[in-house]
Amino acid sequence: MGIIVQKFGGTSVATPEKIHKAAEKVVAAKKAGHQVVVVVSAMGHTTDELIDLAKKVWGGRDGQPPKREMDQLLATGEQVTIALIAIALAAQGHEVISFTGGQIGLITDENFSKARVKQIDHKRILDPLNKGKIVIVAGFQGITSDGDVTTLGRGGSNATLVAIGAVLKADVCENFTDVNGIYTADPRIVPDARLIPEISYDEMMELSSVGASVLQTRAVEFAKKYNVPIHVRNSQTDQPGTMIVAETKAMEHIVVSGCALKKDLTRVTLKQVPDQPGVVATLFSAIGQANIVVDDIIQNVLPDKTANISFTVEHGDVADLKPVVDAQLKAMGSGGAIYDTDLAKVSVVGVGMKQSTGVAAKMFGALAQEKVNIQNISTSEIRISCLIAKADADKALRAVHAAFNLGKA
Ligand code: ADP
Ligand code: ASP
Ligand code: MG
Repeated sequence: MGIIVQKFGGTSVATPEKIHKAAEKVVAAKKAGHQVVVVVSAMGHTTDELIDLAKKVWGGRDGQPPKREMDQLLATGEQVTIALIAIALAAQGHEVISFTGGQIGLITDENFSKARVKQIDHKRILDPLNKGKIVIVAGFQGITSDGDVTTLGRGGSNATLVAIGAVLKADVCENFTDVNGIYTADPRIVPDARLIPEISYDEMMELSSVGASVLQTRAVEFAKKYNVPIHVRNSQTDQPGTMIVAETKAMEHIVVSGCALKKDLTRVTLKQVPDQPGVVATLFSAIGQANIVVDDIIQNVLPDKTANISFTVEHGDVADLKPVVDAQLKAMGSGGAIYDTDLAKVSVVGVGMKQSTGVAAKMFGALAQEKVNIQNISTSEIRISCLIAKADADKALRAVHAAFNLGKA
């Protein structure tokens, strides 16, 4: 039997009891004959608490704490969990060794807070595995080639899971979390959401990027590239969950597989910028250089040869975006910027959309019936998204979910 990589998210290692429960899953896989590598997140809400702590120390000052130091701080969360789960396994009489990202040579680029994995020293993991040990690795963290600690973006333990799964050519990556798998919508918002037994990488990537935060988008992208199968399942049960796999013929028949909601969006409006060739190009290339992803771009040309340009970014990127926008406005010698956080985005996703018509009309109809005003529409080959008021978000998701009959029979 081959290698299995298991990842336990924050809620699944939040208490000593849950750490022991996670250890039981590890032992079961080992007893079944697998070589087991375990990736863990920080306990409970540790990462959020560390961020709050840093904010308190930084005080009300302009700007934000140095990113290198933030990563140094946040990486400590996962370092606590690796030791504790190793202790739990040792307490149950198993041979185990824990590693930080740096200790397994998980080298990333220098992009603190959003670093990308470049390589992993798989020998460092394989040696103890081949000696029969269980190997525990801290999720979410790596080091630069200069030895500085980096983190892989929120939800980055998923990226660690998939990267290790890829380099070790694991049979499967098991993502243990606090729900039974991937549902047709967030089961916390849509009570009749249905568990999806199998979903394609592309659909999962779209769902993650529009709000299904159960998996990090980047991790799914990486899994697709290296064909790493992911099994999303509940850490508290033994039930099978959702397999994320390459698209199959059968999947094409499902027009809409799921829907999702994103509430962590800020809309930025740059007022009265010059309506001239090159302005938008300069603006968005500066934003791109700051490593910020933008969406939902709208430009309204005004009679005075200026334009208002709006776009959305994730809340987490606003602090990095502001100085870029300020510099651009200064260079253009015009306007100001408005930041609006009262909006949300509801999306439907499905590979069958490629061959199907009427999906958009059905979605717009469902929103109209609930008197939800659509502020902008964006699409991909397999996704339709509508920007709406945040106050309408939950009812919009439920309405769309019902319109496509995604609920339990
Ligand atoms: P972990 O701590 O294990 O990484 P997360 O909190 O990051 O877990 O992700 C699990 C949560 O994702 C679930 O509790 C659920 O509320 C949310 N979620 C959002 N959309 C979906 C979906 N389509 N299917 C399953 N869970 C979803
Ligand atoms: N602890 C990190 C976070 O909260 C990474 C993870 O849980 O995947 O984002
Ligand atoms: Mg997570």
